[in-house]
Amino acid sequence: MTGFAPPELNLTDPGRGYLHFVLYTEPRISAAGAAWNATVTIEASTPYVHEWVERLQRCQPSALHTTFVDSQEIPKLHHPCVDEDTASPAAQGERCYCLRTWTDPEYGLPVVGRHHRGIGGDRWTYLTYAPLALRPDDVVASVITDRGDLFWARTTTGVLSVLPMLEAHAYGAGPTAGTGGAGAFAAYLQQLAQSQGRDTAAHGRDTESRALLNWARSTNASPKKLHVAELATLLSDL
Ligand SMILES: [Zn+2]
Repeated sequence: MTGFAPPELNLTDPGRGYLHFVLYTEPRISAAGAAWNATVTIEASTPYVHEWVERLQRCQPSALHTTFVDSQEIPKLHHPCVDEDTASPAAQGERCYCLRTWTDPEYGLPVVGRHHRGIGGDRWTYLTYAPLALRPDDVVASVITDRGDLFWARTTTGVLSVLPMLEAHAYGAGPTAGTGGAGAFAAYLQQLAQSQGRDTAAHGRDTESRALLNWARSTNASPKKLHVAELATLLSDL
């Protein structure tokens, strides 16, 4: 099953107080994860990552947070950071290997942060899900290809989001991107250009434009910020 209908499922609008989330599980090997949402790993430190991290709200671990870690690590989601409790099981002297849980207040998606404090200082790796679509009234103003294979959308009201993406159609850009990833990215850009940024749902379509696919694989595609209006021009020029 790869389809969803945003009018029937509330996927990204925490303002309504609830969200739908479709999980996939393999009970025999204790695996559970998102059925459709793509897992996104954020390791780069960029202005966009910083902006996104700043708005996250700390919360207690939920069932969704457990889908980012191995089953043996689930108890660690509850262990405090060494900064909060030097006797935490996550602390090893001055070092720390804790997990921290947040929610994104804009789109309701879960976030797990992996803290690593060693002799080299602090390092955080964030795990989250790409939304399947933006909120019902969101319109995409620009798309950003960031360092670390990250893709963002900025709405016309200035809200930053991980670009909607399906697990089976993860994006790629630039010369090292495979045809599948670049094709999925080009198809999503084409959809935004043709809908003036209004059709934000990740449909997992193929692009009809070989020229747009070639552009997505060119050095022009990464890293870059592209306004939807420029995208429309790009599409018509190709
Ligand atoms: Zn820590």
